[in-house]
Amino acid sequence: MLWKKGRRSDNVVDERGDDGGGGGGGFRMGGKGLSLGAVVLIVGFGLLTGQDPMQILGQLTGQATQQQSAPAPQTRHAPPANDQQAEFVRSILGDTEDTWQAIFQQAGKQYRDPKLVLFSGRVNSACGLASSATGPFYCPADQQVYLDMSFFDEMSRRFSASGDFAQAYVIAHEVGHHVQTLLGVSAQVDAARQRGQRMEGDGGLLVRQELQADCLAGVWANHAQQRLNWLEPGDIEEALNAANAIGDDRLQQQGQGRVVPDSFTHGTSAQRVRWFKAGFAQGQIGQCDTFKAKSL
Ligand SMILES: [Zn+2]
Repeated sequence: MLWKKGRRSDNVVDERGDDGGGGGGGFRMGGKGLSLGAVVLIVGFGLLTGQDPMQILGQLTGQATQQQSAPAPQTRHAPPANDQQAEFVRSILGDTEDTWQAIFQQAGKQYRDPKLVLFSGRVNSACGLASSATGPFYCPADQQVYLDMSFFDEMSRRFSASGDFAQAYVIAHEVGHHVQTLLGVSAQVDAARQRGQRMEGDGGLLVRQELQADCLAGVWANHAQQRLNWLEPGDIEEALNAANAIGDDRLQQQGQGRVVPDSFTHGTSAQRVRWFKAGFAQGQIGQCDTFKAKSL
């Protein structure tokens, strides 16, 4: 992938090296304690469902109050210009901005660029404190994508999913969640949950939401290619391999206690590949209605 062709986004925020602003032990809940693993799970669940994790946590711990005072201000700055990994992320994000700006404009809507926060270790988002173990995620409450680049190492090490376009696909998937938020899809899924519609499992709304984000990643890949002609032989296979490798079924097989909340409900590998392809084929957002699809 000739990623250097991409316009660099100014919306990448570098918080690597910060400790997430939590200080010491992270969450300190009054009353009954929750293990860090449980907290991570809840935060992840909240992220997926758009529910405020602090609220869920509060319910579970009997309205426990968080004892720590306001988090220490985090240092937000642009990544150093000579950082190749960060440059890569800026390039991919920049192109998602150009693509979605254009698609929204055509539909008479306005696209708002999300910020992308690079972090290491852990990070304090509007959706709660998250650690690297959470994997990449999107927080609707602050409309930011969070990415710890060690996830990419893990992708290649554990799932044999490597290559720059595989990483681009992961970023585009998270941006897909942002698009869903702007289009009101996330709010509709939320409302459906309130009405008691089935969220989990095969064919549940969360899977459909995740597969749609894959399809939107495919739409982006199509438009980016038309504009920049930056794909090289094997790139699409890289993305499909990543989609295939990090589907639910694979993760469950490989799972060794690692918590990857933004993956529990992603659908099977075959479904993820299918929907990425559906978006990529014509670059049409209309091909991404996973909610109406009879078979996923
Ligand atoms: Zn997702």
